Amino acid sequence: MKLSVVIPVYNEEENLRILYERLSTVIKAEADGYELIFVDDDSRDNSLSVIRELAGKDSNVKYVSFSRNFGHEIASTAGLDRASGDAVVLIDADVQDPPELIPELIAKWKDGAEVVYARRRRRSGESFFKRTTSFLFYRLLQMLSEVPIPSDTGDFRLMDRRVVEAVRQCRENPRFLRGLVSWAGFRQEPVYYDRDERKGGRTK
Ligand code: UDP
Ligand code: MG
Repeated sequence: MKLSVVIPVYNEEENLRILYERLSTVIKAEADGYELIFVDDDSRDNSLSVIRELAGKDSNVKYVSFSRNFGHEIASTAGLDRASGDAVVLIDADVQDPPELIPELIAKWKDGAEVVYARRRRRSGESFFKRTTSFLFYRLLQMLSEVPIPSDTGDFRLMDRRVVEAVRQCRENPRFLRGLVSWAGFRQEPVYYDRDERKGGRTK
């Protein structure tokens, strides 16, 4: 199977190399072919040069470079538009989402799930403010939305090619990608993990 990994990037220069190493190690053992698609959301730091350096030495690395900061949802969408794998993994660039969970996501996909979302058990290194606003965000979202959207779940997930095609047809802007993925239907299952703190930099 061919796997695509989509990574939205904004000011992540200190995280990109370690993310690249960990992703490559894990995925090489799992997929016949793969692509790592970095989308640079007009970072102010050296993220783009690090991405260019990685792309220069590894043909599995592809990238998109934005003309200005469009935000995380649009960056993820640009990556999904370019992904050609049988399955597509969305993952943050700050290494808060452990690449080592990807084999578990793939295993559930092979068992028939078409969306496998990573659900956090624990958050380390996040402030009281961040944890509280995040908790309230998911509960409020649950109350307001007609589509059930799993709580304590970020964008870190694997999607079957068919789900990506379905979500791609939604071109609204602004958008909430994980809501659109929930909306698309298909067989969706969680995988549980303990979320680490950011490797470097701070939350945007
Ligand atoms: N990100 C982005 N554009 C932005 C802000 C963030 O592409 O304008 C990326 C960021 O580099 C990271 C992901 O989106 O890979 C999630 O951002 P962050 O870690 O700041 O969110 P949090 O985990 O704190 O919710
Ligand atoms: Mg983060």
